[in-house]
Amino acid sequence: MKTIQDINFKDKKALIRVDFNVPLDDKFKVTDATRIEAAKPTIDKILKDGGAVILMSHLGRPNGVESKYSLGHIVDEVSEILRVPVKFVSDCVGKVAKKASEDLKMGEVLLLENLRFHAEEEDGDEAFAEQLAKLGDVYVNDAFGTAHRAHASTTIVAKFFPENKCFGSLLAQEIISIKKVLEDSEKPVLAILGGAKVSSKITIIENILDKVDHLILGGGMSFTFVKALGGQVGNSICEDDKQELALEILKKAKEKGVQVHIPVDVIAADDFNNNANTEICDIDKIPDGWQGLDAGPKSRELFHKVIMESKTILWNGPVGVFEMESFANGTIALGNSIAEATKNGTFSLVGGGDSVAAVKQFGFEDKVSYVSTGGGAMLESLEGKVLPGIEAILK
Ligand code: AMP
Repeated sequence: MKTIQDINFKDKKALIRVDFNVPLDDKFKVTDATRIEAAKPTIDKILKDGGAVILMSHLGRPNGVESKYSLGHIVDEVSEILRVPVKFVSDCVGKVAKKASEDLKMGEVLLLENLRFHAEEEDGDEAFAEQLAKLGDVYVNDAFGTAHRAHASTTIVAKFFPENKCFGSLLAQEIISIKKVLEDSEKPVLAILGGAKVSSKITIIENILDKVDHLILGGGMSFTFVKALGGQVGNSICEDDKQELALEILKKAKEKGVQVHIPVDVIAADDFNNNANTEICDIDKIPDGWQGLDAGPKSRELFHKVIMESKTILWNGPVGVFEMESFANGTIALGNSIAEATKNGTFSLVGGGDSVAAVKQFGFEDKVSYVSTGGGAMLESLEGKVLPGIEAILK
């Protein structure tokens, strides 16, 4: 795996695909700069070597050129974070981009305009990718969030740098972390899958059954399993058409020697509402009119025990409706248990969609080993897919 550490960038212009798809407020100020900060180590290394940096990214989902999606809005923020002046060019291809790249001196940073102002980016257009490629001497991919897309700047462009392409440090860290969980993992390995629906996690479950010793199935998806096993789930979220599949998953897990842990009790509510009346219920005896919205105390204890016995933990998906304060405590307790295990030397990776939001909201970010920066990309990695953006560098 070739990374920026394997290249000396002196007198080289590095074309870096970063993920600067950051949230902006109505005055176009960056409200969360995590993604810009995450790209800093890669940019710093290249500048320190004596190279120049050309940054390319998308921002939002523009329909053609739309000024509200201009990356020009974030130039000052990027300058401030990198502590160097950042130049900006009003297009990512064409004469202006070419000239800006030619004029760029070593030690300088140039930000290109939003790649998605051109439909060719998402189409993975080869001629467009070739134009991008002409801007730099080395291609660096540091955008995990888009590595599952075969877009021009994330994948296709790599073919124009057969010898001079590598992973940035952020993307390399993501790859190493996933490997640590799915391939070179220290046993026992535990995967915690939560979230709303089984249907969105089936491929992940199937892929990880070969790689884990314990599997916690929590949150909304657990009710499909409970009902399939003959329990009463009241009005809890449940996918009736997936019950057979749930039983099949349990059977496969047994054959493979994976211990599956399903919550034993829940905080049931008489409405999907933060102020609803609540009761602690056995998970298989939820009365009609009530729905399980969070893990109950016995379930939290069960999760804690399994977590403390594990050496490697993957966490994807909340175990309750954490967006509502009344039903966030199960997810917070789970996070606390993972933090405690991590402190004792367990490797913990949190990734994919809402669990990252939960981890940030409850301040667990620095208490787990690694928080993935890519939602969809992480989910596809867990499904066992080789992401096109990663494959293009490895080729
Ligand atoms: P996912 O995107 O599949 O990871 O699902 C995350 C969503 O699952 C969050 O918005 C949670 O509110 C929701 N969720 C978790 N537990 C439950 C539950 N018991 N009932 C309904 N929704 C849930």
